Amino acid sequence: MHILVVEDDTRLVRLLKRLLGQDRHIVETAMTAAEGLEIATSNLELDAIVLDVGLPDKSGFEVARELRRKGSQVPILMLTARDSVSDRVEGLDSGADDYLVKPFAYEELLARLRALGRRPPTRKSAALRAGPIELDEGTRRVAVAGKSVDLSQREFSILECLLRRPGQVLSRDQLLDYAWPYGVALTPNTVEAYIHLLREKLGDPAAAQIETVRGVGYRLREG
Ligand code: CA
Repeated sequence: MHILVVEDDTRLVRLLKRLLGQDRHIVETAMTAAEGLEIATSNLELDAIVLDVGLPDKSGFEVARELRRKGSQVPILMLTARDSVSDRVEGLDSGADDYLVKPFAYEELLARLRALGRRPPTRKSAALRAGPIELDEGTRRVAVAGKSVDLSQREFSILECLLRRPGQVLSRDQLLDYAWPYGVALTPNTVEAYIHLLREKLGDPAAAQIETVRGVGYRLREG
């Protein structure tokens, strides 16, 4: 795991860095809230943040709140000094996923981090929609009016390309480049054939969402 430790106790930071490193984790450290926020918002590869509540510039609660406000979904394990109910509640309210009371056993920290790493992302991947068509880029599933439709990989890519640019006219070449990114020599007629298949699979009235723009290409009707 790639872990950020935000903690101003130098001894604890050094210890965690060494132990987590021995367990083959990649560890970044920050001694202040500002530094922690900067690393957390610029590093998209982080798997977890170990966040101390008592930091010199801002509290860990504020850091967690700010990260969530900025859309970060990285699991946060909060380190609190006291086992007080109000601290725990505030920690979880601020967007932390779990908390650990100091002093703690290293094994327990590891176990909590492992549990956080296994947790599925809290938000579902965004679905692209037009009329009755719904395409989920995460699961690669397409549904029309809630009923799932089986598409080939190319059909899926063409539909995805159109859904990503609703209302825009896309040329056959643009669709070719998107669905066949490796420069396979194909004629624009191939795109026509795939659009035909795609409309058949989507069925009426969903098929009407894909409009032909004569002599140019295709456009996805919005809404
Ligand atoms: Ca502290």
